[in-house]
Amino acid sequence: MNNSAISANFTTGKRKVAIIGVGYVGASIAYALTVRNIAREIVLIDKDIQRAQGESSDIRHGVPFMGTSFVYAGGYADCVDCDLIIICAGRNRRSGETRRDLVDSNVDIMKNVIASLKPYYTHGAILVVANPVDILTQVASDLMQLPNGRVFGSGCILDTSRLTACIADYLSLSTDAVKAIVVGEHGDEQTPVWSRVAIAGVPIDEYCEAVGLLWGDTQRQSLHEKVRSMGASIIRNKGKTHYGIATCVCYLADAVLNQHQIIAPVSSPLVGEYGVKGVSLSVPSIVGVNGVERRLEERWSEEEYVQFLTAADRLRECLESL
Ligand code: NAD
Repeated sequence: MNNSAISANFTTGKRKVAIIGVGYVGASIAYALTVRNIAREIVLIDKDIQRAQGESSDIRHGVPFMGTSFVYAGGYADCVDCDLIIICAGRNRRSGETRRDLVDSNVDIMKNVIASLKPYYTHGAILVVANPVDILTQVASDLMQLPNGRVFGSGCILDTSRLTACIADYLSLSTDAVKAIVVGEHGDEQTPVWSRVAIAGVPIDEYCEAVGLLWGDTQRQSLHEKVRSMGASIIRNKGKTHYGIATCVCYLADAVLNQHQIIAPVSSPLVGEYGVKGVSLSVPSIVGVNGVERRLEERWSEEEYVQFLTAADRLRECLESL
């Protein structure tokens, strides 16, 4: 066996994760990964080294009763051999701001992070979580120049989780029964794909009719408004959001690290799907060890296409203005 074959075997299955930016979001992700025992090794990297050290000690001291993950603070050189690199470095929005208001400061941070990471990147998927996630996914992907989908963004996974929970509450059912997705922008112009919502495989309008519940524009608009404004409302109440995204990222990390393919609405650079090119947006995607391994083209309603394409145009304008 030659040396490169030995090193390839050595790194396979290490389940090593780097988290860059260990504020509320990065630290919550690290904590959720250890609770679920998804990663074997988790390195926390932040420009504020003391913060990374504090978070790593705090999380590590809970591991003995929980799992086996090895959590430590490190630097970019520790990204060598990582199977998954999660980027959470970036300013959070203040009350009243939209995610797009973060563009200027967070694009600069992303450029800085990629410049520091690139010399140590060996393989693995790169998952962007910092906002505005679709813009930052495109920027990171352009800078890394890896095969399409290796850099992907958490995109609409959190909106999808919120929509699923809101529909389940409306129907008084467990979330397991609800299959719904949000696509497009992780932001105010997100698109819930109402035409595909199913309850245990039954189209939702048929289900509601059978159980005597109302299902029409009024119910859809009210649920959508709740989902769209949920992040802002949590920020008004507690100044930040971090637990929801942390469990959603765990779901994606499990798919990457444990080679357990899922279909999820995450963001990656589109190359013509749905008529869009050169912009990262969420569409149903097969996520596995290489990040986004394939994007799926579904049939949506006319209104859903219009909403999706409007968001694509706005994001393209934003990217062109950078
Ligand atoms: P935070 O301010 O608590 O943490 C940000 C961290 O990034 C800080 O520790 C800071 O030191 C670090 N950082 C800044 N520049 C850096 C650099 N160049 N290199 C390394 N580290 C750097 O913010 P937070 O609440 O953790 O939010 C982080 C990001 O996640 C924000 O952009 C927020 O909008 C986003 N977010 C995304 C979702 C989603 O669904 N995608 C959900 C919630 C929050």
